[in-house]
Amino acid sequence: MKCPCGSDSYQSCCGPYHENFEEHAAPTALALMKSRYSAFVKHLPDYLWETTDPQIRDPRVHQMNIEWMKEVTFTGLEIIDSSEEGNKGKIEFRAHYQIKGETKVHSEKSKFRKQAGRWYYRSS
Ligand SMILES: [Zn+2]
Repeated sequence: MKCPCGSDSYQSCCGPYHENFEEHAAPTALALMKSRYSAFVKHLPDYLWETTDPQIRDPRVHQMNIEWMKEVTFTGLEIIDSSEEGNKGKIEFRAHYQIKGETKVHSEKSKFRKQAGRWYYRSS
């Protein structure tokens, strides 16, 4: 099975992170970002919650994500730029999706932070 993030195998890509976040932490900011995109595709809101920086976790955003992922069909992830320095990461990406028959693109420049050996989504 292909991985939603675009690689050939879900089992050797985002799968292990989704199955057990505690045991298999994404090793880079980019891997974490891709696994979050895949989690949207696979309707795994808890994974999004777990990989959001604890300082900015917001139950309202969590609920919005749950509603949103039910309505959209994702059609592809495009990484525009990504960099990592120390415990900080920056990724610019485009997520392509369809909603109510319309084709749309979500563009974002995200920040990531590494804390106790784990990468977390910090903000857009
Ligand atoms: Zn993947």
